[in-house]
Amino acid sequence: MTNEDAKVIPVRVALRCRPLVPKEINEGCQSCLTFVPNEPQVIVGTEKAFTYDYVFDPTSEQEEVFSTAISPLLNGIFKGYHATVLAYGQTGSGKTYSMGGTYTSAQENDPSVGVIPRVIRRIFEEKEKRADSEFCLAVSYLEIYNEDILDLLSSSKDKPAISIREDPKEGIKIVGLTERQVVSAPEMVGCLELGNSARTVGSTAMNAASSRSHAIFTITLEQRRGSDKVDSVVSKLHLVDLAGSERQKKTKAEGDRLKEGISINRGLLCLGNVISALGDESKKNAFVPYRDSKLTRLLQDSLGGNSHTLMIACVSPADSNMEETINTLRYADRARKIKNKPIVNVDPRAAEMNQLKQQ
Ligand code: ADP
Ligand code: MG
Repeated sequence: MTNEDAKVIPVRVALRCRPLVPKEINEGCQSCLTFVPNEPQVIVGTEKAFTYDYVFDPTSEQEEVFSTAISPLLNGIFKGYHATVLAYGQTGSGKTYSMGGTYTSAQENDPSVGVIPRVIRRIFEEKEKRADSEFCLAVSYLEIYNEDILDLLSSSKDKPAISIREDPKEGIKIVGLTERQVVSAPEMVGCLELGNSARTVGSTAMNAASSRSHAIFTITLEQRRGSDKVDSVVSKLHLVDLAGSERQKKTKAEGDRLKEGISINRGLLCLGNVISALGDESKKNAFVPYRDSKLTRLLQDSLGGNSHTLMIACVSPADSNMEETINTLRYADRARKIKNKPIVNVDPRAAEMNQLKQQ
């Protein structure tokens, strides 16, 4: 199957509202969001309603988010489809909590663990169920800060420069990034922990760094099926914890500082432009500025391309954050208009072998 005749599947959006945090309660904040029972709908203040694919209110547990919104993507991964999960929202809205970006193995059975550790557990459970297939799993973990790609799994001091290339057959490739082969769940969790700690250390000097950086944890799954194992698929799962969205608006408002804002977090500005270009039906064949930032280049397949994509839009319920919350709700609403065309990704080498055989 080529991408031309693939089925269109829009980007799905899960809205997630965290509970009021102690600081907000102490400041006397009230919730400004109302959730419509049994409908994926949220109402801001007294009138404005937004509908998404999923809405998780403050009482929703991590397990519920995982089983309803993430699980279907994992089924796709095992069929050979690429998938992406993007956490978007202002700083403090629950992106890292939702993704599991502070996970350590000491929390193993804690119900509060987020998406990534749950994904790891499920992938290895599914692998065990498929004795007729051969698997090869690899992970990479990177951070984009100030338009630099940092390899969170590399321990060497003189790290090689990382560059992005586009392969006509395999899509976007990151050259120079550590890709670690793993055979067990604990080993993959080890990579997550290693990268998470590299992330935190990297941002202690400047607390703002973490809210201005994007982290991408990528799992590559190669499956060889059938008796002679030529029936191979390769799928990738990107799990993305985006930078805090409020910077974008602030730098815009401050006019003069726009340039600085662009260089610090061009990715988020550019992501907004890409989403607008892709979601606007009146601009059908409009130019999509993927190349304007590293983030959008890396996510090119996930937005308007070959991937099942879910955006988890994170918000605070506090009335003091209402303006940012409305921005996030609007942004997420636009993302739903992006049309993707996921296809089963046959291993190019296996495809070539098959062709030779037939000849
Ligand atoms: P972000 O990564 O968006 O800046 P965090 O994930 O660090 O935000 O969340 C900010 C705070 O809110 C943390 O203390 C976190 O534990 C808490 N929090 C976020 N989401 C939830 C949730 N769904 N339930 C309980 N606490 C949450
Ligand atoms: Mg965070």
